[in-house]
Amino acid sequence: MSILNADLHCHSVVSDGTLSPEDLAARAAANGVQLWALTDHDEIGGQRRAAAAAHGHGMKYLTGTEISVTFAGQTVHIVGLGFDPDDPRMLQGLNDTRGGRGARAMEMSDGLGKVGIKDAYDGALRYVGNPELISRTHFARHLVESGVCKDTNEVFRRFLTEGKPGFVPHRWASLRDAVQWITNAGGAAVIAHPARYRFSANEEYALFSEFKAHGGIGVEVVTGSHTAAEYVKYGETAREFGLAASRGSDFHSPDESHTDLGQLPYLPGELTPVWELLADRIR
Ligand code: AMP
Ligand code: MN
Ligand code: MN
Ligand code: MN
Repeated sequence: MSILNADLHCHSVVSDGTLSPEDLAARAAANGVQLWALTDHDEIGGQRRAAAAAHGHGMKYLTGTEISVTFAGQTVHIVGLGFDPDDPRMLQGLNDTRGGRGARAMEMSDGLGKVGIKDAYDGALRYVGNPELISRTHFARHLVESGVCKDTNEVFRRFLTEGKPGFVPHRWASLRDAVQWITNAGGAAVIAHPARYRFSANEEYALFSEFKAHGGIGVEVVTGSHTAAEYVKYGETAREFGLAASRGSDFHSPDESHTDLGQLPYLPGELTPVWELLADRIR
């Protein structure tokens, strides 16, 4: 085992989490996290606050983000760790990736309106902490609070996934661009929660090999949405492709996330932890 309580994946109000970077840092520290990264979707506006709060609690910090990518017709998430947060190409790339979210949200609202759910855009906006980062999660919170569904899972199942009334297909960044923004800014690109995608074996092979060819270096093995069997499966995939392994809860909210910060099994010992490759980027 790799005995370090590293949690390199979570979200604050700067994207679709419900806690501030400071409250997340306090919660991570209370749970024994030693090395932390805040990885807001397509956004690094919370990085300075997160790093300062981490240091205030005696934790080590890696810069982080989770970039939305379209690959083989599906949305894939690429976590970036340890990059320079002032890198201009990275900032521009993230800005462009966020760009379509406002129009997408209005289309989602129109779709929901057609099945009798009125004013969902305004409803979702009330949960948004960052106006550039309206996401499906904010619609889900609104539909739960207004009594349409009992939890966010039900909202996604009934309304926000492919083929459902509030789903709007969207073209995110390319895999190549996302990996290169991160890598050129001195960071490590990591495939987030690989078990969550619904790729065929051939598509998954293409994802890992193209990711590696573009310069990607890691994959999340131990993450909040993986089962123990998936830790084993993606540990094997990491070794097959010569990738390092990462560990992160993907914590969003005390009320919604079943895996809390830092509360995951350690990485299996035969894998190379991604933070070993980022030693000079840890602050
Ligand atoms: P978006 O980037 O707007 O497409 O929103 C994606 C976010 O929705 C993810 O990062 C998760 O936080 C959340 N999400 C996706 N699927 C589900 C689900 N089945 N249940 C709860 N939250 C989900
Ligand atoms: Mn999210
Ligand atoms: Mn994700
Ligand atoms: Mn995430």
